[in-house]
Amino acid sequence: MKNTEIEIITSVKQALAESKKKITIVPHENPDGDAIGSALGLGQVLQNFGHQVQIIPVNDYPDFLKWFSSDVPVIIFEKQRKLAKKLLFESDVLICVDFNTEKRAGHLEKVIKRFDRTKILIDHHPFPTDFCDFTVSETTYSSTAELVFDLVNSIGLSDRIESKSAEALFTGILTDTGGFNHNTSNNTFRVISNLMEFDINPDKIRSEVFHNFSADRMKLLGFCLNEKMKVFPEFRAAVISLTIEELERFKFKPGDTEGFVNYPLSINNIVFSALFIEKEGFVKASFRSKGNFPANEFSSKYFSGGGHLNAAGGESELDLEKTILKFTQLLPEFKHQLLETTI
Ligand code: 5GP
Ligand code: MN
Repeated sequence: MKNTEIEIITSVKQALAESKKKITIVPHENPDGDAIGSALGLGQVLQNFGHQVQIIPVNDYPDFLKWFSSDVPVIIFEKQRKLAKKLLFESDVLICVDFNTEKRAGHLEKVIKRFDRTKILIDHHPFPTDFCDFTVSETTYSSTAELVFDLVNSIGLSDRIESKSAEALFTGILTDTGGFNHNTSNNTFRVISNLMEFDINPDKIRSEVFHNFSADRMKLLGFCLNEKMKVFPEFRAAVISLTIEELERFKFKPGDTEGFVNYPLSINNIVFSALFIEKEGFVKASFRSKGNFPANEFSSKYFSGGGHLNAAGGESELDLEKTILKFTQLLPEFKHQLLETTI
């Protein structure tokens, strides 16, 4: 470990593992399994230590992430603005998990900027901006949850981990690796093996997360693959798009389109996939790639976004049709890179 890293860990230890404090944990907007799993896992460990902890996501998250045994309070900012703000500004420490820039906190961006006590970032996305006092950022980690486990150990709180926190951290790793399909390392499986010591039930967790869909969601997926997917074999790319009307037709609930963007990557020879979803006033973009094709660079250059090499997101201010046109017109520019991509 470099000197500065040791200094950061020492400061984080002082902030989290010495005196009892009020701590707020903020995951990114539209929280996914890693954002919620890291927040609940870390929150539970800190609560077990004796801190007063709450998690404040900016907006609600899907039902398939609402079964945890964790008892850390979760206050959704968009639903209880006043209470959330009050609790946040009463906190001694604010911990941001699973995002690399304030912008990813959505409507909480300004609040995070205004918060003037200790701010800590724990994240695994590349290119973190310098918006916290202490930044624990490790891009080699599969997930923030994997990093939280190691950090909790480094700051001397390993004896506070139990089944509730282990279950949440397991879920973060499980979801961010797509069920151990990508981004795993020796360390990932070492951490998983350690988490398994805490009497958790991986079969139950997998079932809660991956086998918990409504029939409407399955029909929406079928509709997408049948009628809304365009494949461009000459560019090794594919795109899926959905309008608001189509989402309503299939009784869309948050989380229903989770994972749709991955499907085209199981087509032989496809290495780049995009999903565009119409929202009120903008289009949400998701990108996935294989091998060395940089989904995050593509997204940050053309869709005001970012993320990881193989999983990125962004948005478009054009309408849905024009967004798809923009995407297809960009493919020739990347043809060489796409054809050269190795896995
Ligand atoms: P998803 O496609 O699942 O929404 O996001 C994939 C990855 O890209 C996640 O790691 C997420 O944090 C990141 N990401 C998603 N949307 C955005 C965005 O609008 N801006 C940036 N910078 N990253 C995003
Ligand atoms: Mn993550």
